[in-house]
Amino acid sequence: MGKQYLAAVLMVAVLVFSGAVLNRNMKNIGDRKTDRLNDAEENPQNNEQPVFEDINALIAIDPGHGGIDDGSSFDGVVEKEVNLDIALRLERLLNEAGVDTVMTRRDDSLIELRERAKIANVAGAHLFISIHANSLPGYPRFGGTETLYAAPDNPIPSKIDSKRLAELVQQEVTRHLGTDDLGLKYRPELAVLHRTNMPSVIVEIAFLSNIKERELLSKAEYREKAASALRDAVLKALEEDGAFKNKGGQWIYRKQR
Ligand SMILES: [Zn+2]
Repeated sequence: MGKQYLAAVLMVAVLVFSGAVLNRNMKNIGDRKTDRLNDAEENPQNNEQPVFEDINALIAIDPGHGGIDDGSSFDGVVEKEVNLDIALRLERLLNEAGVDTVMTRRDDSLIELRERAKIANVAGAHLFISIHANSLPGYPRFGGTETLYAAPDNPIPSKIDSKRLAELVQQEVTRHLGTDDLGLKYRPELAVLHRTNMPSVIVEIAFLSNIKERELLSKAEYREKAASALRDAVLKALEEDGAFKNKGGQWIYRKQR
């Protein structure tokens, strides 16, 4: 009887003690919860409200060749001049559409290939379009449009890649100009393609060595058409990349900070 009594007393004691501990722990949990809520109320930074930042979409436009580097040249039609003229038209059309641009050259100057990529990278461009005209000496009837692409060495985060940008450019240029579709070419060794951090392409609009295409490339209205095609491709690419036109008519990326 004595032993049983002792055991019963001990059991009650254990129960009361553990109940007290449990109670204390629960109270602590409750206190901590309240503390956290109070902190949040006092310090609005702790309320995890998303903060957004709008960044203007920026397109790097690269007119191929320049200065002592003519590119190809047939019958007085010089590639560096054709490239620059189409590039300046594209600059105007994009600005009119609410897209900011950065040019690697705006006049007849020689810019190194690495420097062209650097200009686009430092400016923080979202897409890079290099404009060229093609040539195949000895084949005056061979023509068409081709677009070259490669993956950047140090890519910025983006929803589209260089290949997709190349597809859109190739599609729009062949559609607007009615040129033969020579397809896409993967050219990872080209400096302006792999040294640029953003999706980047080189578009070879048409052939200066082709009699008919040379005649067309020497005309202002054809160059304007080529620039319109590139503008349309850029706008489609921006949309796929998550950019949009805001109420002020400016193409922007809305990023969460
Ligand atoms: Zn060229």
